[in-house]
Amino acid sequence: MYSCHHRYVGLLSLTARDLLHRIAEDTGQSFTELARRVNDEMASGKGIMDAVRKILIKNGLDPNEYRLSPVRIVNRITHLLEEEYSQTLMISAVLAQMVESTDKDRFPPPAFFIFLELLNSVPEAKQTTNLSLSSEIDEKTTEIIELTTTLVSIICSWSKQGITGVARDCPDELRDLARVVARKTRLYQAGLWTCLSCGKVVDLKDTRALLCSECDAKIYGDLEDMPVRTYHERERTGFGKTKKGPELE
Ligand SMILES: [Zn+2]
Repeated sequence: MYSCHHRYVGLLSLTARDLLHRIAEDTGQSFTELARRVNDEMASGKGIMDAVRKILIKNGLDPNEYRLSPVRIVNRITHLLEEEYSQTLMISAVLAQMVESTDKDRFPPPAFFIFLELLNSVPEAKQTTNLSLSSEIDEKTTEIIELTTTLVSIICSWSKQGITGVARDCPDELRDLARVVARKTRLYQAGLWTCLSCGKVVDLKDTRALLCSECDAKIYGDLEDMPVRTYHERERTGFGKTKKGPELE
């Protein structure tokens, strides 16, 4: 059973940040210090869960009580994306801009690839025309960023150079997802980009707002009849669900 003094017993953390906060609280160490140590371990090629396990054991804590469940993370992301499709479109637009940004807060491409794969499985049918508060969108976007970055750090294996493949302890049902993300990341590192709309692999230099030049030209026409125009107009209003292009291996 469980010990009563443990406030979070029975709760699985969904994000790496939550998990580290729990560990910080339970060990009396600072969150920043823990985060730095996990980062250092990961930079040397350790998976996030191995890095966390090492810290837990060092502090005499049971690693089984501090787990992240990739399957639950996927379920949570899918739930967020299915909730309100018009919000999902806006979130996609925000993330797409963040992935293109050169700032420090840039959304990492591997996490964005995860987002896109999960977006592909969301049915468009639930589309509604409810107005959304931008604070609501911001909150959801932040949660999705944390969930996807956590997920990619668990299901993919890493080295100093970045993603090397599928993590050893990636659950079977998520192996395909991890494989696609690893492949797209390798392409990306080689200067290639998979067009978000048609799936064609093109030179990164020839992309416009994450699309190949043909799809970019096309989407401007389609945007005219999109119901979502209440959010701040950005350069790019939203990426809808796209048909999966031919998978290139
Ligand atoms: Zn395209």
